[in-house]
Amino acid sequence: MDPALAKSPREMIEKVSEQLGCSPTSRELAVYLDQHDDLRFLRQEFLLPKIADLPPSDLSLADGSKDCIYFVGNSLGLQPKNARKYIDEELEKWAKTGIHGHEMGSRPWAWAENNLEVLMANVVGANPEEVALMNGLTVNLHLLMLAFYKPTAKRHKVLLENQAFPSDHYAVESQIQLKGFDPSRSMLLLKPRQGEDTLRTEDILSTIEREGDSIAVVMLSGVQYYTGQLFDMEAITRAGHAQGCYVAFDLAHAVGNAELRLHDWGVDFACWCTYKYLNSGAGGLAGAYVHDKHRDTVKPALLGWWGHNLKTRFQMTNVMDLQPGVKGYRLSNQPILLVCPLQASLEIFSKTTMRDLRRKSVLLTGYLEYLLLHYYSQNRSDPTRPVVRIITPRDPAQRGCQLSLSFSTPVRAVFKELEKRGVACDMREPDVLRVAPVPLYNSFTDVHRFVAVLGSALGAQP
Ligand SMILES: *Cc1c(COP(=O)(O)O)cnc(C)c1O
Repeated sequence: MDPALAKSPREMIEKVSEQLGCSPTSRELAVYLDQHDDLRFLRQEFLLPKIADLPPSDLSLADGSKDCIYFVGNSLGLQPKNARKYIDEELEKWAKTGIHGHEMGSRPWAWAENNLEVLMANVVGANPEEVALMNGLTVNLHLLMLAFYKPTAKRHKVLLENQAFPSDHYAVESQIQLKGFDPSRSMLLLKPRQGEDTLRTEDILSTIEREGDSIAVVMLSGVQYYTGQLFDMEAITRAGHAQGCYVAFDLAHAVGNAELRLHDWGVDFACWCTYKYLNSGAGGLAGAYVHDKHRDTVKPALLGWWGHNLKTRFQMTNVMDLQPGVKGYRLSNQPILLVCPLQASLEIFSKTTMRDLRRKSVLLTGYLEYLLLHYYSQNRSDPTRPVVRIITPRDPAQRGCQLSLSFSTPVRAVFKELEKRGVACDMREPDVLRVAPVPLYNSFTDVHRFVAVLGSALGAQP
């Protein structure tokens, strides 16, 4: 697909449907876009839940399809087909060779995760030396904050979103307390303007400029989990550095979703989970990144044997030969059973590029937006018709694949009706439905089906 066109999804949708002589809302267009999707082969790499296997519902899908509409890859990605194969291989190796598995096979347990770091680094735009796979996301956030957050009387604040993900909020709050500071004074929370859903980049930058000399760490998400807003990480990093702050991102919703260039942007540190867009399965192995410029200067606060130079790690001298940079933050030997599904997923990512995924994503989400606006925006002649409001920014450059929707009817009821009809999406309190067409495995036909099913779900309101 022509990237220039994909930048303006509306234009592309209207142009292609005109060429085809069909309506932009017709199924024919969705089928055409799927046929011309260079990345459609990637869907075959995943196991898609079938409606028949989901909790029993009193309705079946109107279009008779057997596959559920899976729009919740922002919460838990689909299972790569190779995940089971790789796990089976390791169980087999364990059964047959016991402890020899540490050094045998294509995935020696003692350094299996090292093989994945190159693949992982490509997805986040970093050098392999800047990336480690370990622990869970919140654990990594704590480990990195312990090393980077060194508050002083003058520079003690952490800047984060007012509605940051709860785990991030608690992590930052407890880090501030741990250092003997007061969260009510040291947590600087960014709020959208009155009556607005998302943060304006200019407001983020001006806050950093205004408060910068009291901010130790700017710690934002890359993509906001609730609104789906994609932040301008490059500009934020530049602004933070101009004020002498460290700049860090929680990439839980950005990794595998947005194009990242952590190294080039100069981001100081970052962490992410891998079970969302990276499809590693619930509780999968998380990621951490520390920029090269800090490799010999910012030391981990907590040490374990896995941070020791691999060559001499097993000589058990009790004299630490710390690996430089993020590798030195590793504490424990890796859970090989978590390495397997992540490997399966990252290998799929390596069959394409984030640039190509992103190009498809802009069009796929733009297509969803187009159909939602067509059917459910206000100003229709029928005022009794339910209205869907998109709170995610309308500019494709300021969002990933997720659209967050709010409804003129109670969201819980809409969500339940969608579930009954084989749609997997996700509801977040207080009133948002998050819908994420994932370019790796979702299709334009999925989007078209979803919008039709949404119509019947809304029509089914009491
Ligand atoms: C999903 C998510 C988490 C979850 O944290 P875990 O440690 O993986 O349980 C934390 N922060 C953000 C921003 C998230 O999106």
